[in-house]
Amino acid sequence: MSGKHWPPGTQCVTKHDHTKPKPQELAFHKGDVVTIIEAVEGKGWYRARHNETGQEGLMAASALRQRGAIRADPKLSLMPWFHGKISGAEAVQELQPPEDGLFLVRESVRHPGDYVLCVSFGKEVIHYRVVHEENTLSIDSQQHFSNLIDMIEHYMKEQGAICTKLVKPKPKSGMKSAEEELAKAGWLLNLQHLTLGDRIGQGEFGDVLQGEYMGQKVAVKNIKCDVTAQAFLTETAAMTKVRHKNLVCLLGVILHNGLYIVMEFMSKGNLVNFLRTRGRALVPTQQLLLFALDVAQGMDYLESKKLVHRDLAARNILISEENVAKVSDFGLARVDPKGADATLLPIKWTAPEALKHNKFSSKSDVWSYGILLWETFSFGRAPYPKLSLKEVTELLEQGYRMEPPEGCPPAVYALMKSCWALEPGKRPSFKKLTEKLQKELKHLGDV
Ligand code: ADP
Ligand code: MG
Repeated sequence: MSGKHWPPGTQCVTKHDHTKPKPQELAFHKGDVVTIIEAVEGKGWYRARHNETGQEGLMAASALRQRGAIRADPKLSLMPWFHGKISGAEAVQELQPPEDGLFLVRESVRHPGDYVLCVSFGKEVIHYRVVHEENTLSIDSQQHFSNLIDMIEHYMKEQGAICTKLVKPKPKSGMKSAEEELAKAGWLLNLQHLTLGDRIGQGEFGDVLQGEYMGQKVAVKNIKCDVTAQAFLTETAAMTKVRHKNLVCLLGVILHNGLYIVMEFMSKGNLVNFLRTRGRALVPTQQLLLFALDVAQGMDYLESKKLVHRDLAARNILISEENVAKVSDFGLARVDPKGADATLLPIKWTAPEALKHNKFSSKSDVWSYGILLWETFSFGRAPYPKLSLKEVTELLEQGYRMEPPEGCPPAVYALMKSCWALEPGKRPSFKKLTEKLQKELKHLGDV
């Protein structure tokens, strides 16, 4: 039973039922998720809090396993019941044998753009046309939904105008329910415990809200569009694989209003705004170096997990209450892996080989890191000021590189330049960058 050293905050899943607890012990069912509070003196016991009930108590380590990672699997679907363009007759076939409340959704063949909800009831299959109107979906023109996920969520809770409450999704063959997989692994949070507050940011794909989850301050990214939510599963899967002080921590997800991604709350916002609003007068060089070091350490860890960021930039670095910088948005969700839409790439941050030949690697992340260093030491200026995207691409090919920001220590500028070596192999590793920054910090402390 030894060999488990879970620090406070570790999320664990229970391996079996424990319904008759002794005094001070926690009761639980198999598959419940708990948060470690502390290890108890002696062997193999932990004080933990039940994520569902909020109760605290003792638990045997042998009853627990640490929450696992979700594999980014293309078969993992938020809408496993969505069968695409199949005919009504095929839908009836899929819903055999009859079972009240067994359902699927298909695309209407006759009315392109509309969907059909097919529900098994009695010995029949009933087909409900879902009308797509002004960006909302509706079956009865009374209840409107912004996407299919919400609509299904609703009719699983309430019968409304249809023949029966939806009970059981019929998955498209080969598809796995992301909800089930997330729940099994312990990453599905409980909507009841979430309180939402003010909007703190606007992402490209949805709002970011402040909130509270079981007493902890959190940030919640809400992705309403179901297709985008599906794409974000990749990002979420990447987040379940990592745990590091310089990476924004995922608490879990909730399938509601599309998708909620619940993360630790970073009270001081993103690095660009942090620097712009405070400026040179309030942020000393030492703090800039500490941010740069934090990011390099987070990236070194990501590299060790063989994860490529692809969108490393100061806007994606968040600052905690204690001034710790953490890397966010590391799931590659936003960049098409086949590079089909090159116009979406953050040109001024992306390495030449990645732009031209779609060769993304930790070394192309290092190039972006050089740009991030430049942004940091210029207190949040946009890189290549006054140059158009086209000019940047051309000038870089001719060997042009940005000038150092005003007041930038020469050693730091040398680091930027090394990140901008044309040949990826000549760029430093994140480990090397970490060492150099530590040296520079020490040097600053000595003078
Ligand atoms: P996008 O999907 O556009 O990349 P981001 O994840 O970058 O969205 O979030 C947009 C903004 O919301 C950020 O710049 C930041 O200001 C705020 N934000 C995002 N995540 C958090 C968080 N965990 N804590 C605090 N603020 C956050
Ligand atoms: Mg972002």
